[in-house]
Amino acid sequence: MLLILSGPSGAGKSTLCDRLLAAFPALKLSVSVTTRAPRGAEQDGVHYHFVTPERFAEMVAADAFAEHALVHGNRYGTSKAVVEEELRAGNSLLFDIDFQGAESLLAYRSDALAVMIFPPSMEVLEQRLRGRGTDSDEVVARRLHAARAEMAHFSSFHHLIINDDLEVAFEELRAIFVAGRTRTQHRADEVRRRFDLVASLNEI
Ligand code: ADP
Ligand code: 5GP
Repeated sequence: MLLILSGPSGAGKSTLCDRLLAAFPALKLSVSVTTRAPRGAEQDGVHYHFVTPERFAEMVAADAFAEHALVHGNRYGTSKAVVEEELRAGNSLLFDIDFQGAESLLAYRSDALAVMIFPPSMEVLEQRLRGRGTDSDEVVARRLHAARAEMAHFSSFHHLIINDDLEVAFEELRAIFVAGRTRTQHRADEVRRRFDLVASLNEI
């Protein structure tokens, strides 16, 4: 299955993603392509594939993205090849992408499950962005400005989590993932393989 997390920068998406990935080894993080510079200890190929704007434009022209968007002045995209390959291998993929990407990915794959993460308040969001200590004042101001626009798109999403207490927020996300995995569309291949099902009682 495809599980999408979106929400304003600082809401806690990376923190929740890390916990979900640690809890479910079969779930993989979709590593996005971006034109932004690495932040803190970020590594190429692990947190993002860092590319030049020219390379990103070439990939757009080659139709290599399942979705891509301009976020806070930088370009971000999800490789079509990676999505298709992981789905073919029967893996679940986790996406940490913005609302534009979420809406595009839902159009590309209507069976994806989309979760919006909210902070408990705008004040707490600002504290978390500053507390993370990885962005300049100017970048924090730009991200706060964009937060309300991101959050206004909550109704495009299937679920909304308010990340106040991390334990509660994680439990909600875990429940969404576990329930999502049991949707019939994700189990169809498996049950057809394991059980000799028939269409009517007459066939028995
Ligand atoms: P995002 O990926 O959405 O930009 P992060 O996961 O980087 O957000 O979280 C932003 C900051 O807030 C980090 O320093 C993180 O440790 C902290 N944080 C995340 N969730 C909580 C929470 N529930 N309570 C307190 N701090 C949190
Ligand atoms: P950051 O620079 O803080 O890592 O990410 C900034 C924003 O870009 C976040 O909202 C994040 O979810 C979003 N983002 C990261 N990767 C992608 C992607 O591949 N596509 C889209 N549309 N947004 C992304």
